Amino acid sequence: MFDNLSTKLDRAFKTLKGQGSITEINVAATIKEIRRALVDADVNYKVAKEVTDKIKDEAMGRDVLTAVSPGQLMVKIVYDELTLLMGGEKQDIVIKGDPAVVLLSGLQGSGKTTFAGKLASFIKKQNRTVLLVACDVYRPAAIDQLKVLGEQIGVEVYSEPENKNPVEISRNAIDYAKKNNKKVVIIDTAGRLAIDEQMMREIEAVKKAINPSETLFVVDSMTGQDAVNTAKTFNDRLNFDGVVLTKLDGDSRGGAALSIRSVVEKPIKFISTGEKMEALDMFYPDRMAQRILGMGDVISLVERAQQQFDEDEAKRINQKIRKNQFNFDDFLSQLEQIKKMGNLKDLVGMIPGMSKAIKDVDIDDDAFKPIEAIIKSMTKQERAQPELLNGSRRRRLAKGSGTDIQQVNNLMKQFEDMRKVMRTMNKMSQTKGGMQQMA
Ligand code: GDP
Repeated sequence: MFDNLSTKLDRAFKTLKGQGSITEINVAATIKEIRRALVDADVNYKVAKEVTDKIKDEAMGRDVLTAVSPGQLMVKIVYDELTLLMGGEKQDIVIKGDPAVVLLSGLQGSGKTTFAGKLASFIKKQNRTVLLVACDVYRPAAIDQLKVLGEQIGVEVYSEPENKNPVEISRNAIDYAKKNNKKVVIIDTAGRLAIDEQMMREIEAVKKAINPSETLFVVDSMTGQDAVNTAKTFNDRLNFDGVVLTKLDGDSRGGAALSIRSVVEKPIKFISTGEKMEALDMFYPDRMAQRILGMGDVISLVERAQQQFDEDEAKRINQKIRKNQFNFDDFLSQLEQIKKMGNLKDLVGMIPGMSKAIKDVDIDDDAFKPIEAIIKSMTKQERAQPELLNGSRRRRLAKGSGTDIQQVNNLMKQFEDMRKVMRTMNKMSQTKGGMQQMA
């Protein structure tokens, strides 16, 4: 689902890699790529522009925590905005009344009848009695199709093959439900291949006559912007309560999922991801945003970092890195902060692709203990000036911390490597800055 969009967004975030903060200059290219990715995914241009403008405003000038990269922070911002774009909160369907009536509308081929079966099965699992109603008076095959589904899921199907009046059929079906103790009535109406005045009038009349507690519009997500336009036309006439997006298992580009809510101002309530009766999900905007971003749980990782990280401390350390003054006190402080974020295995598991890789690996939460012990055995002066740590001092550290000389040497080597990387990064950003100033 949305593979292309995910890949393109990922590429957009990568343009921010290695940047110390998000500024007008470095964010412009990323924003442009995000916008292009959205438009390519068939998101309405106006919607794509509005959302990327918001993303830019959000991102500008945000200090980047040392715990996360600018790219990761950007993922979080985009995630928040996409979630909002798709409605923010999950919205449930309203099943009320005795019997409660759910009316389905949509074009032919949208997956309406299949969805009727899925919804019936979904409601039946909640131990409510359901009646499916075949109201397509034009295609006898549609009645048969619903009957086959009904049999499959063990739900009764009401139909009147000789009656050509959908309003009458619906009313009769509701009477039948009352007499036969069916608590929820799902009405599958006739669709057409395209918007058609007669179809609209017919379904309007049905809605007026039976007053459903929920009217749903079913649409094929693969039709992209057409889906959005059709939704708008149906909504203008029917004022429906929610949208069902079907065929999200196919190579839908995601545009409909992203644009419908803001164009039509009605929530998506269900998504259908296959022909089987089980392939139905409630729609959660936040989960969908995560799937679109294909980002594993980076979002929770950034959220945790935002909650746990002491920003002032992060800034102080950032300054020290820039001045090539990072020492063992700073190293210890970083370790403390990482530990505050929680169980190590959980943290590593949040990095995309890692959770499977570390499934059977034991990550010891005490892994930091010897390192901490060694650093704590250093004098104040040694922590500030690691160069002082010669052979005899290292032997003393090993003894004091209950480790061995090998472990102390390893730590020294790691620390020196880290400082080397920091120095190189500093040099690179200085030359880059210099070149930008010259240009
Ligand atoms: P209707 O004309 O709106 O009632 O549409 P149908 O329910 O008959 O569906 C049209 C076709 O789309 C059928 O072949 C269904 O099996 C298929 N279909 C429906 N929903 C989905 C879905 O979520 N994914 C896929 N791949 N196919 C679907």
